[in-house]
Parts: sequence; C-alpha cells; structure tokens
Amino acid sequence: MIDLPPLREVIREYQLRAEKSLGQNFLLDQNITDKIVRLSGSMAGMNAVEIGPGPGGLTRAILASDAARLIAVEFDPRAVRALQGLVVAYGDERFKIVQGDALDIDPLSLVESPRAILSNLPYNISTVLLLKWLEQIRKDQGAYRFMSLMFQKEVGDRILANPSSKTYGRLSVMAQWLCDVKRLFDLPPSAFTPPPKIKSSVLHFVPKDLGAQAPKFETMEKILASAFNQRRKMIRGSLSDYMAEIEKVGINPTLRAEDLSVADYAALAAAREAFTPA
Ligand code: SAM
Repeated sequence: MIDLPPLREVIREYQLRAEKSLGQNFLLDQNITDKIVRLSGSMAGMNAVEIGPGPGGLTRAILASDAARLIAVEFDPRAVRALQGLVVAYGDERFKIVQGDALDIDPLSLVESPRAILSNLPYNISTVLLLKWLEQIRKDQGAYRFMSLMFQKEVGDRILANPSSKTYGRLSVMAQWLCDVKRLFDLPPSAFTPPPKIKSSVLHFVPKDLGAQAPKFETMEKILASAFNQRRKMIRGSLSDYMAEIEKVGINPTLRAEDLSVADYAALAAAREAFTPA
C-alpha cells in the first residue's frame, strides 16, 4: 500500500481552490473514484490517459489499478505541482503528467496502444473532446480500448438518447454509431467539491468494429448537421440535398430528423459516398 496524504490536505497545501473557468469540480470520495475504475473493467497491459487529474482523486484510483501506466494531461499548473507527490510515489515510468491544453494534445501521441481514456471531464470542453476522440476511433477502431468519461447528466442523456426523443441528436448518433455506450452511474452534485448545480453521469464507451466500408466521419457529420439544424422539418426539406440517397435507402421522406435511427444515418452516409466516390 502506498501511503498518500488526504486529498483535502493536498488541496490546502497547493492552494488548489476550484476555478470555475477550468470546470473544476473535484471528486474527493475514494469510493466513487474506485467505482469508476472498477466498473471500467480490467486495464491489464493498457496505457491509461487521464484528462484533467486536478488534485488526483481519480488518478490515485487508476494508479491503484492494473493499468500498465498512466499519463495525465492537466492545464492548471497548481494541480501539476500538487500531483508531483504521485509521480514520486509511483515513479515516472508508471505515471507522467503533461502540462497543457487537452484540446491541443492528442492522446494517441502520448502513449502506445492499447489505450484507455478515463476522465472527470472539464464540462465546458467535454463534447468537443468526445467528438475528437470519436473521430480518431472512426479512423482506427483500436485507437482506444474504452473511454470512461464523466459528463453533465444532461449531456450524458443526449449521448444515450434513443430516436424519437427530444434529446436525440447529433451527439447521440455519432457516439452510438461508433461505440457501444452505457451509463455506469449518475452522481448528485454533493459528490463533488465544490458541488456543481447539476447532476453528473459516468459513461463507458467501447469502440465498435464497423468494417472498412463504413462511411467517413465527415460524411456523417454533414448529414447530421443538415438534419438536426432543422429538426422539426421533414427530412424531405432538411435533407433535400440527399433525396437520391433517401430514396435508395428507402427511408420515408416525411419523417423528421429525430425519427431516423443510427443505422438509417449510416446507410444515408454510405449511399452518399457511393454516389460521390472519394
Ligand atoms: N479529475 C479531477 C477530479 O475528478 O477531482 C478533476 C476534474 S475537474 C471536473 C476538471 C479538470 O480538468 C481540472 O483539474 C481542470 O484544471 C482540468 N482542465 C480544465 N480545462 C482543461 C484543459 N483544457 N486541458 C487540460 N485540463 C483541463
């Protein structure tokens, strides 16, 4: 057992007062951080990447797991200083910190595969990061073995939404097209320090094998943007540029964007690419 100071002590010592602009809501309860890691499954032989370790609660749980090594990306220099104790405790072969903006840092360049991403994401950039990683998964299903990510519950609900629901949209289709996604658990605001205004959800993503013929990420994005930017319109209006594909695939043109399944969108994208070869 590695003996570490309590997280609240680390926060005090390094004056890690939570900054709203950095989306800092810390998880200090070890039961919760251990649960995220436990429910994620084995990481034996895997290289874990954590975005935004903050004071290091989830970091400690990952380091206590069977993951081969962990690289954490943190923007806040105070947190980077606060995490040095973990580098000393575990050694820099097992745990490294990269100081920088996760929006600019490609996890694929940080560690070799097999990789996994775990993060209590900074909420203001969570969907941008998710879409970046999903795009990488489309190019290479083996980019990540899994991703366990904490979102605002409202975002988690959108990612998991089913067709014909109000929350079903671009994010639902992209995530469910590329990954098997499930909710690990929800957390109330009181689980965080300081408590945010909203509930949170931890989601688990496992990349799907779509085969080499699957449509490109960009093709799906374009269709989804056209469809959902006018989600109340029938697709014969919102997707008027895709009438040939709608006919070929055999989708009812009087449906609305939210009525099409993930498979319908993938079929439309495949048909578009068949009509306009790259
Ligand atoms: N993992 C910690 C925990 O669960 O207690 C902190 C999670 S907190 C919600 C988000 C973390 O992401 C903070 O440590 C924050 O400093 C960091 N962060 C915010 N924006 C970032 C960015 N653009 N790149 C890297 N880290 C960022």
